[in-house]
Amino acid sequence: MRYLIISDLHANIEALQAVLAATEGDYTEVICCGDLVGYGPDPDPVTDWVRANVKLVVRGNHDRVCSGVDSAEQFNETARQAAYWTRAHLSGENIAYLRNLAPGPLEIAEQFAILHGSPRDEDEYVTTTWEAEESFRFLDHPVTFFGHTHLQGGFLRGSQGLAEALPMHVPKAKSRRVWQIRSDQTYYLNPGSVGQPRDADNRAAFAIYDTTGFVEFGRTSYDMLATIAKMRKARLPDFLSRRLTLGR
Ligand code: ZN
Repeated sequence: MRYLIISDLHANIEALQAVLAATEGDYTEVICCGDLVGYGPDPDPVTDWVRANVKLVVRGNHDRVCSGVDSAEQFNETARQAAYWTRAHLSGENIAYLRNLAPGPLEIAEQFAILHGSPRDEDEYVTTTWEAEESFRFLDHPVTFFGHTHLQGGFLRGSQGLAEALPMHVPKAKSRRVWQIRSDQTYYLNPGSVGQPRDADNRAAFAIYDTTGFVEFGRTSYDMLATIAKMRKARLPDFLSRRLTLGR
């Protein structure tokens, strides 16, 4: 099986369409690690697409807040403004769908699972090897995909029990980078963010997990100017447009 793993779409339909174009015919099923909405200008089109095409989804913190499961008080000012805008622009059907998304971890197959933040807290940001070591203690599968940090790559744990960061960075001139999955290691992997990358590469990110034993981390550029024009028109905070440009 080849699974297309996507996360942190953040209502960016141009980025999602570019990822789908770059991976067309290259996978058997799509899996989503959460944050369909929030920040971006197209919450309904992105949620409509996920509803129609992705059966295995876990919720993200923005999905909870934008659908009213949680209050926006925990968010910073920019995220809160975007969440209120999103709530006001989502259809009733899509709000109901987002409200009912499952929290992770969610088992996809015997050897792999997905979640949004960490196995003990769906809102935890795992960015350091120390935090990853804590997470590895709670993981039940050889391979787990997570999101939330918007940083492509993740961690592995070898037989010594120490976590290592994957030196994951798809060079600008390339669109994919392959990582072998070894049976003597455990993996905690992040496909990166489709709709709002924060790892200094402004291209939309994704991963393809090939269960014969490797992961392809991918990047693709998209029509960002179209996304930004819609964000301006919707009066979403300028900071969010700048983040797309910078990839931070
Ligand atoms: Zn997110």
